[in-house]
Amino acid sequence: MVKANQDLIEKLEIQAARALEEKANTEALFASIGEGVIATDTEGTIIRINKPALEILGYRKADLIGHWFTEAVVAVNEDGSIVDNQLRPMAKAYLTGRTITERVYYMRKDGTIIPVLANVSPVLMRGKPIGAILIFRDMSEEMQNDRLKMDFIGIASHQLRTPLTAVVTYAHMLEENFGGKLSDIQLSFVNVIITASRRMNELVGTLLNITRIEAGNIRVDPKLVQVENIVTEILDELKPEADSKRIKLNLVIKTELERIKTDKLLVHEVFSNVISNAIKYTPPGGKILVTITDRFNDIVVSVKDNGYGIPVEDQRFIFIKFFRSSDAMKHDVSGTGLGLYLTKILVDNLGGEIWFKSLKNKGTTFFVSLPRSGLERKAGQFTLEI
Ligand code: ADP
Repeated sequence: MVKANQDLIEKLEIQAARALEEKANTEALFASIGEGVIATDTEGTIIRINKPALEILGYRKADLIGHWFTEAVVAVNEDGSIVDNQLRPMAKAYLTGRTITERVYYMRKDGTIIPVLANVSPVLMRGKPIGAILIFRDMSEEMQNDRLKMDFIGIASHQLRTPLTAVVTYAHMLEENFGGKLSDIQLSFVNVIITASRRMNELVGTLLNITRIEAGNIRVDPKLVQVENIVTEILDELKPEADSKRIKLNLVIKTELERIKTDKLLVHEVFSNVISNAIKYTPPGGKILVTITDRFNDIVVSVKDNGYGIPVEDQRFIFIKFFRSSDAMKHDVSGTGLGLYLTKILVDNLGGEIWFKSLKNKGTTFFVSLPRSGLERKAGQFTLEI
């Protein structure tokens, strides 16, 4: 009998120790999460809160524990008006039993307002919510960055573009002898001005596109298009550049031609970048072969050159913003390291993939796949500039 009691006590002690250990683990997990975390019970009362949450909201633990979440942490709209309780993510999560992610504004203890990204998950027991976990992160810095990006778009499209247009227009007028006949040397100076300002105009365009797309504001407008037509158009556009280096451009089509629903503007920018890179990084007299083929549910366009290639050690950096391989600089090819970064984001927006294989001094092949199943329309504030 005594033995049985002892066994029972031992068992209970082990269970209690396990429960304590589990509680300590949960506490440690809760405390170690870098984002703000608040747990509520069935009634919506705050039962647990971690340090980052207190820091973001400017409260002490005692101000919030045991208080009704919706009352203690006030949510406001962008204009400062208080959000209706039923419309708050916490209420929606309780009502729907689903995880809700929304950008909201919380009022801190000192009355200041901060934007946060809130993710509320209901804690369900047999399908019924018995509480909720709110994970949130201060978005002030991101919003400030977004504002800076929007400011940059404004400045770049007006203050930078307008004087640049004037430079190009007047340089062209000089070139056409509108200001009197130019000597050969004067004409060569004017041509340098035209080339440099065109390059600068392109750079401003690329920066604008990157900023717009990073701000998540690019419009994707799918229409039925034939990829072959877009590629042919680009090859025609780039022919003078290729001719000036005696580079042969060839197109081979190894698939049934079909129209797919995609965004023509974005596709144009993608292939324009990849094909013009092939011309840039191939020495005079080289060859470029563009092939259109298919793979399962995709159309795949490959652009093969027999140019400088990309050294193995540089290959993993190729899609990183501003990255230029040491070889590109050695061969004195001008560029910014922005083209492929932008191209990769555009391909992502098109639901496709981009990859390449390359051998130093032998050449490079870039592959871009586009889904034949088409693309959903995405509303956005801006269109891409090409
Ligand atoms: P940019 O051409 O303006 O430098 P990109 O982002 O378009 O910038 O390309 C990044 C780098 O990738 C280039 O600087 C070059 O080193 C390398 N690269 C891209 N395409 C090719 C290619 N076809 N052959 C060799 N190197 C290439």
